[in-house]
Amino acid sequence: MTDPTPLLSVRGLKKHFSVKGGLLGREVDRVYAVDGVSLDVAAGETLGVVGESGCGKSTTGRCIMRLIEPSSGEIWFEGRDVTRLEGEELRALRRDMQIIFQDPFASLNPRHTVGGIIGEALVIHGLAKNRRDLEARVTDLLETVGLRPDHMRRFPHEFSGGQRQRIGIARALAVQPKLIVCDEPVSALDVSIQAQVINLLEDLQEKFNLTYLFIAHDLSVVEHISDRVAVMYLGRVVEIAPARALYDNPQHPYTEALLSAVPIPDPKLKRTRIVLQGDVPNPIHPPSGCHFHTRCPIAEPRCSVETPTLKQGTPGHFVSCHLRG
Ligand code: SF4
Repeated sequence: MTDPTPLLSVRGLKKHFSVKGGLLGREVDRVYAVDGVSLDVAAGETLGVVGESGCGKSTTGRCIMRLIEPSSGEIWFEGRDVTRLEGEELRALRRDMQIIFQDPFASLNPRHTVGGIIGEALVIHGLAKNRRDLEARVTDLLETVGLRPDHMRRFPHEFSGGQRQRIGIARALAVQPKLIVCDEPVSALDVSIQAQVINLLEDLQEKFNLTYLFIAHDLSVVEHISDRVAVMYLGRVVEIAPARALYDNPQHPYTEALLSAVPIPDPKLKRTRIVLQGDVPNPIHPPSGCHFHTRCPIAEPRCSVETPTLKQGTPGHFVSCHLRG
């Protein structure tokens, strides 16, 4: 939507999970986890993807990586349709796209040393000529993420949460990816450590010209790292805009509510807190029309019948609402 030749282009992505029941284990229901997501990410850009838990943001990230199979839609990466890749082509894609997980401890094999964890990807992709080269590369990666070379002989449980996330980042960097899906990489960390990890990710982006899809449940986390931000609600993107435009002039009522909960550092400025009524509806039976109509403070009767589509208001600022944009 901003770059004519984006690195990543997602169109109409859907992921529906079957809910099985009965003696025969037939499909009795469906979870509409991702329900028609379209977005572009330009090379070198960071797109923040934000929404409450269950909005489909992590599922979107995992579909893009082909860690789970999309139900339908297109995912284009450098001119290749990711959804159709198999075998060697899929393996090559796995080198270009990496993921950093929310819980670095769960994603690191506790029985492997840090050197083994980081070196594994280098071995799989044939990126180390011999043992000495492998060790040199692991050393380099550890230093790049702010760890020490001797850390390679230790095990994940010997590290703090922030250090473990640095190990996860080093593992992702090992194969020299172009795109990294950062799936809530700082949500499990203390606030002071969050800033360190985000600063590291920013430095690495500049150094290696990385592109990030940065998933978070809180708009304050993605504010400084994102060039643009997409807000998701119940499987759909409801607003996508350059970061400054979204924070200064949110258009969708859901974005307004999320932003109203973000503290402002300047005590002279005040923001009225918008408290949404009720919980996020069950994605097995999402509300008709605009999914947000059951909680929207400005909903009209047509909102429960007609599904809004993303419309561009100001350049690059898209909103999915009958009354805005
Ligand atoms: Fe609210 Fe209607 Fe806009 Fe949906 S379409 S956000 S319910 S006003």
